Amino acid sequence: MLETAIDRKQLLTHLENLLQSRRTRDYCPNGLQVEGRERIHHIVTGVTASQALIEEAIELGADTLLVHHGYFWKGEDQRVVGIKKERLKALLQHDINLIAYHLPLDVHPELGNNAQLADLLELETTGPIDPLDPSTPGSIGKLPKAMTAAEFSQWIASKLDREPLHIGENEDIVETVAWCTGGAQGYLQLAVDAGVDAFITGEINEPAVHLARETGTHFYSAGHHATERYGARALGQHLETEFGVKVTFVDIDNPV
Ligand SMILES: [Zn+2]
Repeated sequence: MLETAIDRKQLLTHLENLLQSRRTRDYCPNGLQVEGRERIHHIVTGVTASQALIEEAIELGADTLLVHHGYFWKGEDQRVVGIKKERLKALLQHDINLIAYHLPLDVHPELGNNAQLADLLELETTGPIDPLDPSTPGSIGKLPKAMTAAEFSQWIASKLDREPLHIGENEDIVETVAWCTGGAQGYLQLAVDAGVDAFITGEINEPAVHLARETGTHFYSAGHHATERYGARALGQHLETEFGVKVTFVDIDNPV
């Protein structure tokens, strides 16, 4: 089979039209972050552009890395030293493009992390998590059926292949839910305000435990990585279908 290749510019234009990153306020640059080859034959998708993911991409002979968590975060040390030097060196030496979409990949209504998580957990979306600012990533909705909080924990574990940390009474019944993938523990109050039974996100912090207990809102910390695996993978599948270019999803396990 002849391998299909596309121009980087064509790919970036397509991604930009699809994800509308210029309309999203974000704390990292979206789109092309590190420039590599002009012709793209093989894209590796993954959650985070860590050294391990770069090494995999090199091993697979890929020319492009497409991730949710790229580099150049607002407020980070701007110097090219330490692990940042090593990562950039590996990418530049192998002429690999690094393309990253952060919030635009959280919120896309079909391919985004939140939409993909809802599909996986069979959640029915009924509205945005923040009705006053619908651009806030996250949704509210319903479970496929009412179940005990412990059963829902098992449901999440079976779908994400990772046991969530659950705060709440096991025998309570949960049916309505709010969710936001990644590190959205700060959105628990939005779930409380929405009056849902449970909130799912990737990470948890100390004050969130008290807020959950004192409002009776079940908290499921299901893993930042685990909840954000699906957007990059879905975006890659979309590109494969659209352009016939080779795409490989690489999951570098992360317990958090
Ligand atoms: Zn994230």
